[in-house]
Amino acid sequence: MKPLKAVALAALGTFLASSAPAYGPDGHHTVGALARELIKGTRAETEVTALLGDIDLSDAAVWADCAKGVDQNFKYHVTPNRYPECRVFETPQREAEMEDFVRRNFDNCSPKPGEELCHKQYHYTDIAIQRSRYELGPVGTRNDDVVAAVGAAVRVLRGDPAPAPFNIKDKREALLILAHYAGDLHQPLHVGAIYLSAKGTRVDPDQGTYNPKTNTRGGNSISVAGGNLHAKWDDVPATLKMSKINQAWLDKAAQVAITSGLPADWSAAWATTTLADAKVAFKGMKFSVLKSGKWKATLPKNYTATMAEVKERQITAAGAHLAAILKATWP
Ligand SMILES: [Zn+2]
Repeated sequence: MKPLKAVALAALGTFLASSAPAYGPDGHHTVGALARELIKGTRAETEVTALLGDIDLSDAAVWADCAKGVDQNFKYHVTPNRYPECRVFETPQREAEMEDFVRRNFDNCSPKPGEELCHKQYHYTDIAIQRSRYELGPVGTRNDDVVAAVGAAVRVLRGDPAPAPFNIKDKREALLILAHYAGDLHQPLHVGAIYLSAKGTRVDPDQGTYNPKTNTRGGNSISVAGGNLHAKWDDVPATLKMSKINQAWLDKAAQVAITSGLPADWSAAWATTTLADAKVAFKGMKFSVLKSGKWKATLPKNYTATMAEVKERQITAAGAHLAAILKATWP
């Protein structure tokens, strides 16, 4: 390894500890389980089983987060008594599979100093909540963000090559990451971002010169009672766990509108919907001055109810959209 690369890796390594996992495993499990139920009896179900073998789609939905357990030396680490959702992937063969994915997707996006490893950046985008729709270009969007990642996985599943900088080995790997990123793409704080001044006032990063210090890191730099705002949105209430999936819920998911246009472009349309919910997520919120790298948020009234409503709608949409992509891929 060249010394320069080693230095860059060391700098990246400092970020490993600070990156938060996404949508706790519960939300992702629910998204995968909803999609699994919605494709039952279709050709998509047969093809998914052919690719995943005995890995259930609800387990596949956490694979990309479990791959974050691969270190800078491309070795997967079991964390005792943590991440039980990853146990299913902790066999020599499946650990090697995660290590191989990370090896091909850690610096392929040429991360700038202070940025996360590429595969960790695939989980989110940070478009400002002032924008009316998702498009590539504004501050926070990237050609390797979660919108691009979903599009890339869909392309590979349909037999096309992955666009740069993604390195997706085959259809199985594409399905594993798609099952996860489809969930992230529906988590409001993985898509729409608020940018704040040191005084805690809202900033539009696309007006004038962008100041990176206004970036709230998907709400990870915003503290609320009991943790940070991002984690609060990653959490799902007990009512949204996959054990609660019933016919009524599946019926609701089946009514989610089909996205128009080419399947590989659907992710941008989904991001626009999620962006609308990110605006809801920050509505009426007040912020303290920046202190020790954090803003403290004062939440508006009934915020827990607002979150629950958005989470139910978005998780249902994510499951329906994942199923729709699979059905469109294998009609
Ligand atoms: Zn994620």
